[in-house]
Amino acid sequence: MTKRDYYEVLGVGKNATKEELKKAYRKLAMEYHPDRNPDNKQAEEKFKEAAEAYEILSDNDKRARYDRFGHDGVKNSGFGSQGFSDINDIFSHFSDIFGGSSILDDFFGGSQRGRGRRRSQGIPGSDLRVTLKLTLEEIAEGVSKKIKIKKYSVCEQCSGSGAQSGTGKKSCPVCHGSGEVKTISRSVFGQFVNISPCSNCNGEGYVVETPCKNCFGEGRELKETTININVPPGIHEGSYLTLDGEGNSGIRGGRAGDIIVFFKELPHEYFMRDGDDIVYDLYLSYPEAVLGTDVEVPTLNGRAKLRIEAGTQPGKLLKMRNKGIKHLNNSGYGDQIVRVNVHIPSKVSSKEKELLKELAEMPNIKKLNYADEKNFFKRFGF
Ligand SMILES: [Zn+2]
Ligand SMILES: [Zn+2]
Repeated sequence: MTKRDYYEVLGVGKNATKEELKKAYRKLAMEYHPDRNPDNKQAEEKFKEAAEAYEILSDNDKRARYDRFGHDGVKNSGFGSQGFSDINDIFSHFSDIFGGSSILDDFFGGSQRGRGRRRSQGIPGSDLRVTLKLTLEEIAEGVSKKIKIKKYSVCEQCSGSGAQSGTGKKSCPVCHGSGEVKTISRSVFGQFVNISPCSNCNGEGYVVETPCKNCFGEGRELKETTININVPPGIHEGSYLTLDGEGNSGIRGGRAGDIIVFFKELPHEYFMRDGDDIVYDLYLSYPEAVLGTDVEVPTLNGRAKLRIEAGTQPGKLLKMRNKGIKHLNNSGYGDQIVRVNVHIPSKVSSKEKELLKELAEMPNIKKLNYADEKNFFKRFGF
């Protein structure tokens, strides 16, 4: 495609001042703006063409080269030569043309992000927040859960359109289908066009002729729904998962919100969690700790035998490898830590008392402490 002369594109003379260029470009940009010409390829081309022309001519250097050598002179300058691949490039590149983004917004109405899809369907649905309680066993291996929630789902009667079957939509009488209401204000700086979404149709540009009786025109209905949640192993309390598009359905075909699942860890009967390890408190009797024994301990998937060596001290940590929680981000498991405690009975029978007293006199039973009587008296010369 041969390029049109840039001056011709903007409709200005060869001696146009910067001010005239800017004015001409503004006019074209507004006329061919994609928001005003949805799905109009020709308007889009014109819009790009004007942007390119303005990009070159508004730059003194490029303009001088263009005046001398024509299009060849500015072939490699900026992206004017490559053309604009995306309308948004133009917006981001020229945001300063109108003296700042807020004024640009006044011209084009709305933020950069919403541009070009302001009249997209319906009104988005909201996110839902769900708390999911999980046992340590479920966290250890991951789990798939089904839960029932009440949420807005697409209306089955009207498939989300909000219109009674057999009826259609009509253009909004307030905004005549544009979805926006324009107000013009004048100030010492000139005329400002302020564009805001139409309140009658919520910016949709149309209203339904006869609202669906099932959903009263909303296109969605409140229903109990079962959702599936795949919980990965190793999640932590307070972490969450987002189920995209599974939240409340939007109004009249609007994008659905998300479901955000927050995890809550239920306390376990036997175990405490320490990262991906689990800690189990084992209580031995004094004779067991002295003599050694075989015990059975619970694990996350049943029970296991554990050998206690003779002379095991309280506080000793015994590690059962890979019996903990599956790591979230890499392969493998945490460990089960068995912490040894010695059970001290608070109540004994008279026979037990007698035996303990006898035991207490045995040579290996008592450990001499700092404040032990003998040491104490010796130390102070008694
Ligand atoms: Zn309906
Ligand atoms: Zn309207």
